[in-house]
Amino acid sequence: MKTSYLDLANAAVRSLKPYQPGKPISELERELGIQHAIKLASNENPLGASKRVHAAIQEAIADIHVYPDGSSFTLKKTLAEHYHIQPNQITLGNGSDNIIELIIKTFLSAADTAIISQYAFLTISLLIQAIGAKAIVVPAKAYGHDPVAMVQAIQPNTRLLFMVNPNNPTGTHINAEAFEKMMQAIPPHIVVVVDEAYVEYVTLPNFPDTIDLLSRHPNLIILRTFSKAYGLAGLRLGYAISSAEIADLLNRVRLPFNVNLFANAAGIAAIQDQAHIQASRDLNTAGLAQLNEGLSALNLQTIPSAANFVTVNVGDGEAIYQQLLRLGVIVRPLTPYHLPAHIRISTSHAADNARCLQALKETLCQPS
Ligand SMILES: *Cc1c(COP(=O)(O)O)cnc(C)c1O
Repeated sequence: MKTSYLDLANAAVRSLKPYQPGKPISELERELGIQHAIKLASNENPLGASKRVHAAIQEAIADIHVYPDGSSFTLKKTLAEHYHIQPNQITLGNGSDNIIELIIKTFLSAADTAIISQYAFLTISLLIQAIGAKAIVVPAKAYGHDPVAMVQAIQPNTRLLFMVNPNNPTGTHINAEAFEKMMQAIPPHIVVVVDEAYVEYVTLPNFPDTIDLLSRHPNLIILRTFSKAYGLAGLRLGYAISSAEIADLLNRVRLPFNVNLFANAAGIAAIQDQAHIQASRDLNTAGLAQLNEGLSALNLQTIPSAANFVTVNVGDGEAIYQQLLRLGVIVRPLTPYHLPAHIRISTSHAADNARCLQALKETLCQPS
């Protein structure tokens, strides 16, 4: 009899549904035999990476035969100076999703629970379930996290509480007062993980300054990434900022070379080019305004976004997604998030935003 490897996998893995990433442009062009498709589906930076990053990678090529610095001394020093923290408060990861994995490995056992909001970034609940632990999913409020309900959901076996701020895929955010109130209500033995993948795009004045909160709340871990505003999604580099004590624990489970040579070099160069971040933020602010205005002109309901994408109710998200694909426009359907009426559109250059809005207009006018 043929061996079923599905039966051999542990129970937690058997019940997992893999994460569905945005469709790559090359795949769509291959499938439809078209050219010049655009992808507004993975919240990538339309400006790409800083030119300084390109130069740093060119320079690093000479050293690819040697192992990278496993302690990432210079990258940590650069980040520490930028944020006015100590290098020993930083944990580096192969993308911030790698750090979510390190946190779960460090603090969660199969008998434990972790709190997360409905509509929060799916990778997190996937990683919780992968070790056989339980994610307590707290109902969202107006598509966003409900910090009061999240605190109330804490159980005796709860070890972690995850907050994504601003949240992906809804773009909603928790302001400084609500965040601080939540931190005050959470007992110190529960580790709070705030995923701030989009923080560089936030222009709101009352957004939480979580690094400032660290001294009062040593149970806080802040997650940041180079994948979004820094434009290094393909390179895989993320980091956590925490107390030195928590960083030490995370570094115990981290694989020694999880940050490769190019990622180390690129991260240093990227942090040193804050003008690129400013330009990326400005382009996004303009893109959000353009998309919001265009979608409202199509009488579509959007969720107010603090990030670099807009989530919009189009009636039948999967159908509209498919029709947009035929017009060479890739967006993200949100069926995996149980938001079947919505699609998520990443901001881009004005011309690509306009092309997406035009395609959406054609699609909506067409009887499906
Ligand atoms: C894109 C994204 C990340 C980034 O993940 P990386 O592994 O660093 O590429 C993390 N969290 C959220 C909520 C995201 O949307």
